[in-house]
Amino acid sequence: MEKKNIDWENLGFGYIQTDKRYVSNFKDGKWDDGALIDDANITMNECAGVLQYAQTVFEGMKAYTTEDGRIVTFRPDLNAARMVDSAKRLEMPVFPEDRFVDAVVQTVKANAAYVPPYGSGATLYIRPYMFGINPVIGVKPADEYQFRVFTTPVGPYFKGGAKPITICVSDFDRAAPHGTGHIKAGLNYAMSLHAIVTAHANGFDENMYLDSATRTKVEETGGANFIFITKDNKVVTPHSNTILPSITRRSIMYVAEHYLGLEVEERDVYFDEVKDFAECGLCGTAAVISPVGKVVDHGKEICFPSGMEKMGPITQKLYDTLTGIQMGHIEAPEGWLKVIE
Ligand SMILES: *Cc1c(COP(=O)(O)O)cnc(C)c1O
Repeated sequence: MEKKNIDWENLGFGYIQTDKRYVSNFKDGKWDDGALIDDANITMNECAGVLQYAQTVFEGMKAYTTEDGRIVTFRPDLNAARMVDSAKRLEMPVFPEDRFVDAVVQTVKANAAYVPPYGSGATLYIRPYMFGINPVIGVKPADEYQFRVFTTPVGPYFKGGAKPITICVSDFDRAAPHGTGHIKAGLNYAMSLHAIVTAHANGFDENMYLDSATRTKVEETGGANFIFITKDNKVVTPHSNTILPSITRRSIMYVAEHYLGLEVEERDVYFDEVKDFAECGLCGTAAVISPVGKVVDHGKEICFPSGMEKMGPITQKLYDTLTGIQMGHIEAPEGWLKVIE
């Protein structure tokens, strides 16, 4: 298959239209068969549920080329399951998990010419999502929904190596107790925009959100979970019902324990103990792990011993092992890589 003529090394993280997308419609209580289509635009009523009351959920994953030339995705079954949880919380119909994975495979296959070559650092980002599409004016769930999957090639997250970032403790809350912090819904992002624009304006790369009930515990950033490394090399991640269960973070905890023999803990992490950790990282599909060098709490700086030049040594090991598994250099646990072709 002939690849598209794209400057893979210099791709940014933006939308580039690809050839095909998958669409399935839910009407009269059931999903239709679904199909790949050419049209990248959606026509819907001015009163569509998604436009009025933000009834929409999404997923984010990537396809990439392994060293031996296979196109794969990473643990798509977990994205499928997470979308079920998201949909249920917003009173949306569930898109069957096997059909989700099949839709992702079909869409990537149809856009294989856009999957960046091995070694470029670029990937094909995959965006499955679902939204209420029929007119809704009284507040209630829509009756009709659309499920779609599109892909877009994106560049390496870190050009020229991962430099540690500086984050600030946010004055805004991301998620309420018993709210929607644990699901992947656009509404969580809409309300985080003001917080991230404010953080950027103040010279920070990201926000650290604390639990909104007590403001004593570390939750996550707008789009990535935290891991911390203790001075005696334990991997610690916050346990909370109001953070989004990152697939990258869950995979890193597994790798830490089963590949690197490290002790792992998922527990409450109090902000007061952040100053005692040796390393800190943010976990998500886009970057796998972004190292954090500094946390600033209203002018008070916490500088991790790993510094501002490079990832901490344990974070680096976790990063190398997980990306090694993803790229096929290191044997993956059963079922982690879904080979597309
Ligand atoms: C998507 C997302 C993450 C990262 O999850 P991955 O499955 O690792 O990509 C973390 N936090 C939030 C709020 C997210 O939306």
